[in-house]
Amino acid sequence: MSTPRRPLIAGNWKMNGLRADGESLASDLTDLMKNETDAVFDMVVCPPFTLIAAVADALAGSAIALGAQDCHPAEKGAHTGDVSAAMLADLGCDFVIAGHSERRTNHFESDAAVQAKAAAVQAQGMAAIICIGETEEQRDGAMTFDVVKSQLAGSVPKPSTAANTVIAYEPVWAIGTGRTPSTDEVQEVHALIRTELTAALGAEESAGIRVLYGGSMKPENARDLLALEDVDGGLIGGASLTAENFWAIAQSCV
Ligand code: PEP
Repeated sequence: MSTPRRPLIAGNWKMNGLRADGESLASDLTDLMKNETDAVFDMVVCPPFTLIAAVADALAGSAIALGAQDCHPAEKGAHTGDVSAAMLADLGCDFVIAGHSERRTNHFESDAAVQAKAAAVQAQGMAAIICIGETEEQRDGAMTFDVVKSQLAGSVPKPSTAANTVIAYEPVWAIGTGRTPSTDEVQEVHALIRTELTAALGAEESAGIRVLYGGSMKPENARDLLALEDVDGGLIGGASLTAENFWAIAQSCV
């Protein structure tokens, strides 16, 4: 069955890059996208907060969207060091990642916290890229399905729509390790996510929500992963830091 969902290729730059690096990567991607007259994929880059304004300038007029990696759930106030969804929308962001496993682990973010962030993103007219995924211990303990179901139930705001929600399935043990689940394992989790979204949000909204795979996606494995029936794109960390690799992954959708 062919999917009505347009693949989304999302780059998570994490805590990498000074201004010159961000500008040069964004302008290299802009040049590549300009020549892609009939792109069959959407692309978004999520630089660190410090680079968002400079990257916005470099992407101006391009079909590449701008995203951020996190936000505070409150609109404004006494939250030293934090950044609100409204501030990110004001800079031109269309996407914000919520609940990346590095934030769940390093900043002890619960499902409820992730849900509040995602709701704040949606309230500002942007789309939340909500990350879920099991640890290695959970996979070894045959808990993957339960973990994914409970993270989805706890992290996705209700209501959510196809326009304001993207799910990223990222097995924690695959992030930055060079290891990936088999394509069968990826497909079975994505199919489960689709079933759960349908039950929670209804068939119509669920059918349009993109479910990305993330975790050591690179040019060498992207084509096999992106060809899976229920994989609608990728959330890419390390390989999004060079235009060459990131673009090669996007070209795997073609
Ligand atoms: C990520 O951090 O979201 C990620 C998928 O990283 P990597 O591609 O480096 O595994």
